[in-house]
Amino acid sequence: MSDFLLPRLQALEPYVPGEQPQGRSFIKLNTNESPFPPSPRVLEALSREKIAQLNLYPDPLAYELRKAIAAEYGLAPEQVFVGNGSDEVLGFAFLAYGDNAHPVTIPEISYGFYKVFAQLFGIAPTVIPLNADFTLPVEKFLATGTSVVLANPNAPTALALPLQDIERIVQTNAGHVVLIDEAYIDFGGESALPLLEKYPNLLIVRTYSKSRSLAGGRLGYALGNQPLIEDLERVKSSFHPYSINSLTMAAGIQAMKDKGYFAACLEDIIRQRQEMAKALKALDFKMTDSATNFLFASPPGMSGQDYYQRLKERGILVRYLSHPKLESYVRITIGTKAQMEQLIAETKEILKEVQP
Ligand SMILES: *Cc1c(COP(=O)(O)O)cnc(C)c1O
Repeated sequence: MSDFLLPRLQALEPYVPGEQPQGRSFIKLNTNESPFPPSPRVLEALSREKIAQLNLYPDPLAYELRKAIAAEYGLAPEQVFVGNGSDEVLGFAFLAYGDNAHPVTIPEISYGFYKVFAQLFGIAPTVIPLNADFTLPVEKFLATGTSVVLANPNAPTALALPLQDIERIVQTNAGHVVLIDEAYIDFGGESALPLLEKYPNLLIVRTYSKSRSLAGGRLGYALGNQPLIEDLERVKSSFHPYSINSLTMAAGIQAMKDKGYFAACLEDIIRQRQEMAKALKALDFKMTDSATNFLFASPPGMSGQDYYQRLKERGILVRYLSHPKLESYVRITIGTKAQMEQLIAETKEILKEVQP
């Protein structure tokens, strides 16, 4: 770091992504990516012809992509905003709705980026601890007098909030934006989508990274009523008008249209999740009831970090989050059947080592 960097940014604690090892080949269960490649229609769309057009700027309005997303959810393209990953969409939303006079309420244990964005944009967040069982204390999110940002289902806890609770939060914070990050909604839980008609302050954020096998393409979107979407467009056009490249745009259109492939991937992951939960419970793991593509699990007789380290030595990467309240847990992404079988086999060996 140089002495030139602004003091505010010197004090910033950047988001730490999960490891992306470039050398040794690990079984990668640490960043909630899909174990499956993108839809075959995506591979076809990224043709030599498309690549040959890279001399031209992409459509700054990303209209065809927004149309494809809107069609999927029965909305108008004007109700869809697209960004370079949902991280960028979240960033624009924090920039649009928060500053030192406009705070935001977030859960203590949730997606780590919310705190980073708050710091980056000079927003003092109101941080609400979760209940001891990792459920959300809904009452504390009612009538906050601030914007609210929640992930539903939540990460890393994997728990979903009933739609009724989401509605109470949106309704009682009517004077402020309530952002629901639905990164994992395709794997379980109830979407806030049906509430859009009724609530002009609701903004739903989603991603292609988890359920649509496009983490490397960087594509996320927001669904909301037109004025909120116009706000985000305004911020984006003042910062990075071409934030989605033309290849990703083409990929995003086809990934959204291929409903059959999408459904088959989800079905597989949800089946693996059920089998994995059963297998780990049989080994005395504790875990929450997952509505996502990962398990939030606590191994018997060792810390989360110890289990993480022992799996890593055996070529399997899971995510350990260093936070005092998460010490006995790891987050394990659901992979293919073969990957899950390998995880269970290695875990049995590890348990023999720690409980001789
Ligand atoms: C993975 C994740 C994101 C970020 O997704 P990208 O679209 O890849 O930027 C956002 N929110 C939550 C809760 C996530 O888990």
